[in-house]
Amino acid sequence: MEKIVIVGAGLVGSLQAIIMAKKGFKVEVFERRQDIRSANISAGRSINLALSNRGWKALELAGIKEEVEEEAIPMYARKIHDEKGDLTDQPYGLEGEAIFSVSRGGLNQLLIREADKFENVNFHFEMKCEDLDLETNELLFTDKDGKELKVKADRIIATDGAFSAVRARMQKTDRFNYQQMYLEHGYKELTIPPAEDGGFRIEKNFLHIWPRGSYMLIALPNADGSFTCTLFFPFEGKYSFESLKTKEDMLSFFKDVFPDAIEHMPTLETDYFENPTSSLVTVRCSPWNHEDKLIMMGDASHAIVPFYGQGMNSGFEDCSVFNELFEKHNGDWSKVIPEFSEKRKPDADAIADLALHNFIEMRDKVADPSFLLRKKIEKRMLEEHPNEWMPLYSQVTFSHIPYSQALAAGKKQAKIMDEIMCRADIEDKWDSQEIRDQIIALLKAQ
Ligand SMILES: Cc1cc2nc3c(=O)[nH]c(=O)nc-3n(C[C@H](O)[C@H](O)[C@H](O)COP(=O)(O)OP(=O)(O)OC[C@H]3O[C@@H](n4cnc5c(N)ncnc54)[C@H](O)[C@@H]3O)c2cc1C
Repeated sequence: MEKIVIVGAGLVGSLQAIIMAKKGFKVEVFERRQDIRSANISAGRSINLALSNRGWKALELAGIKEEVEEEAIPMYARKIHDEKGDLTDQPYGLEGEAIFSVSRGGLNQLLIREADKFENVNFHFEMKCEDLDLETNELLFTDKDGKELKVKADRIIATDGAFSAVRARMQKTDRFNYQQMYLEHGYKELTIPPAEDGGFRIEKNFLHIWPRGSYMLIALPNADGSFTCTLFFPFEGKYSFESLKTKEDMLSFFKDVFPDAIEHMPTLETDYFENPTSSLVTVRCSPWNHEDKLIMMGDASHAIVPFYGQGMNSGFEDCSVFNELFEKHNGDWSKVIPEFSEKRKPDADAIADLALHNFIEMRDKVADPSFLLRKKIEKRMLEEHPNEWMPLYSQVTFSHIPYSQALAAGKKQAKIMDEIMCRADIEDKWDSQEIRDQIIALLKAQ
């Protein structure tokens, strides 16, 4: 039986372990951290992620969709909070379409639990990958006491995240391309705890956004009635992590710009000063493989900023695309591995670009009436002409259209919508057949 070594038991590695185990391989998973199943994740900060269709498809393939559904909270729309506390809803898609808030720790625990049910899967925790020999496929791990272990693999699947040790080794090989880019913004997690009666202090089934031009606060619901908030904020500048140093400065800033959020944040001071400030990186590299022996997946090969909610979803989609290629080539690794790297790379680049662009949309444009009108017109197009017009957000979030195709289609749509929005009568006629006919005509003319 071929031995697959998976490096990293995060979200993508543990899902891929299930998929490889189902194919009958001997799967050895090595993870730097301790076993997350023994960590009390509810006692700490509950960090959540938005799960959407691409992610659900891979969870279904692994046979655990129903279990995840039990805990996932649907968010049907963005709830925009302006500076006065006035609210606007912006639905994500058609009636009933939603993205889902899931606990990162809870999902990781479930994936490891499910993978561990297979007799042919072994987990090795507190084992850090230090290096590997690409000629012999031998990996070097150290345990928590610094003791070394060498492990030989038939195939290596590297899912060790944005700061991948395997990728660092690949960087030393000839003609390996690598690029990393940090945003000038960082993020900090804050909390809205449950109400005294255990309910939600703000409306549950929404992704809440406080867009403020060059920065923003967002909040996603958790099953226990709390919300995890994330402040995306410049590292330096007039309003920045650097400038808000004292308790007084920070509280007065929050009172001014997020007045209807701060009233629900009794632990703000502790959260702000004790939680870490983290950076946001985009990583692009190629190829993702070494011959037919090693493949990188998830953040290890394509870390992106979180503004499209697609980092985990694209990593999970890696698992389904890998599976499709494996079936297509009857398990011929010499075809599957290079084709996976070649096929996925343009899609990973596309979602990296889309995610960077969506930051501007979320922190700035969602507060702009003309942008909201544009979204309303696009939504009507989707309702009336679903075969001709699927808005870019829906293509990315609710479909399985390759990201690179979605990006290309989105650019064409943006051009058309720019023209439509220039009409002097657009405010009056936005919901008319005349406007929709013009959009279709412009589409056909392209
Ligand atoms: C603030 C924020 C919000 C996000 N929100 C969303 C969202 O809403 N929706 C979404 O789809 N995505 C979101 N993401 C992205 C998502 O978190 C990642 O894309 C996803 O976690 C990638 O999974 P992964 O398994 O590839 O990497 P990781 O989850 O990082 O897992 C990597 C694993 O490898 C282990 N490891 C690392 N180095 C070694 C080593 N040397 N040896 C052994 N093990 C090692 C790590 O301990 C870890 O367990 C968000 C990211 C951030 C930062």
